[in-house]
Amino acid sequence: MNVEKIMQDLTAKHPGEKEFLQAVDEVLESIVEVYNSNPQFEKAKIIERLVEPDRIFTFKVVWVDDKGEVQVNIGYRVQFNGAIGPYKGGLRFHPNVNLSMLKFLGFEQIFKNSLTSLPMGGGKGGSDFNPQGKSDAEIMRFCQAFMLELWRVIGPDTDVPAGDVGVGGREIGFLYGMYKKLAREHTGVLTGKGMTWGGSLVRPEATGFGALYFVQHMLDKAGKELKGKRVAISGFGNVAWGAATKTTQLGGKVVAISGPDGVVEIPNGMNEKMIDYMLDLRASNKNIVAPFATEFPECKFIAGKKAWHIKCDIALPCAFQNELNGDDAKELLANGTWAVAEVSNMGCTPEAIKAFQEAKILFAPGKAVNAGGVATSGLEMTQNAMHINWTAEEVDSKLHGIMKNIHHACVEHGVEKDGYINYVKGANIAGFMKVAKAMLEEGII
Ligand code: GLU
Repeated sequence: MNVEKIMQDLTAKHPGEKEFLQAVDEVLESIVEVYNSNPQFEKAKIIERLVEPDRIFTFKVVWVDDKGEVQVNIGYRVQFNGAIGPYKGGLRFHPNVNLSMLKFLGFEQIFKNSLTSLPMGGGKGGSDFNPQGKSDAEIMRFCQAFMLELWRVIGPDTDVPAGDVGVGGREIGFLYGMYKKLAREHTGVLTGKGMTWGGSLVRPEATGFGALYFVQHMLDKAGKELKGKRVAISGFGNVAWGAATKTTQLGGKVVAISGPDGVVEIPNGMNEKMIDYMLDLRASNKNIVAPFATEFPECKFIAGKKAWHIKCDIALPCAFQNELNGDDAKELLANGTWAVAEVSNMGCTPEAIKAFQEAKILFAPGKAVNAGGVATSGLEMTQNAMHINWTAEEVDSKLHGIMKNIHHACVEHGVEKDGYINYVKGANIAGFMKVAKAMLEEGII
């Protein structure tokens, strides 16, 4: 494989798909060596086949807002690769959603899902619908209109969507209700369901909890521990909340959370009340963190600054792709940060990752760190298929085991000659090998 040539061809075919091309480039750079040492891959054109989605659906979503006005959005589902199982991945509702973003997320999902060791292929979907400021009734009408199209192409053994940015328990409920009505079946076609109608315990907190289990193993391997360490978290959504909860439970100090309006500095670390308040903030649907400092006077709000502005040992990006750039990385390194774990998908830009790796600090990519969310979705699918419910302890211990194995796989494939663990390389190779082998065995399709 010639990475440069493949990237040139892909860029010519999909000009402007910035995030997607960035995600592919990172994977290709990591796997080129193992790929080229295995001639079967080249012969079967595994990479050329892997970078094109199996299929993409786009559809119009028409709904009526509370004022009686007709609204039109675009809906998408990218079924990227189904070599190791049914397509699996979330739905993102955000005004910035476009095909490049969903293709990047779907591509990442292939390797992430493979890392979980559960039988799930990679997929992603969503809409440019903006849930901010919408009433419950508007959200319901939108979700129903969205599912009116999507239901034809998904199924419990075909493609199983879930939540992502802008899609939480409420949206999954409305989507599921409509699917059930159309398909006349009560199956595990979506994950992240409510606990009384097929959801799995621990799924809501699984991404954040799983991330911290991964971080624990990473620190342990480096001879460090989380206890007493200063942790900066970006975001205040479901994932950030799970990460803050587990960090605090494990004795770490969450000294910053941030939103689009700025960062809240929490000098003595978050307490339980503050963690609960994150949920209120989220529910207020205003997308700001400033009220946090009014509610808790010991905290300080700094407008326009990111979480990376606050001195910390460990940085956990929990919001969006490319939210931590080269300048942020410099600021973190200057402040003595020695570990960064992406909890968001592709949370760091290539420049930031390069800076961390050159400084030889601990750095782990989203597809490994945040895989606990989709892994627990996989456990939800298993429970649905078996028509049983596991206890929270059972799910949590399975999640913990999966994160431990993912960490192990990253180390196995990521140790450099000088002993530095390149978690990006490790995650990409481990995720890729399983999918590539399945593609070889399943023939040219
Ligand atoms: N959206 C989450 C992710 O990026 C979860 C997907 C799922 O549970 O299917 O992995």
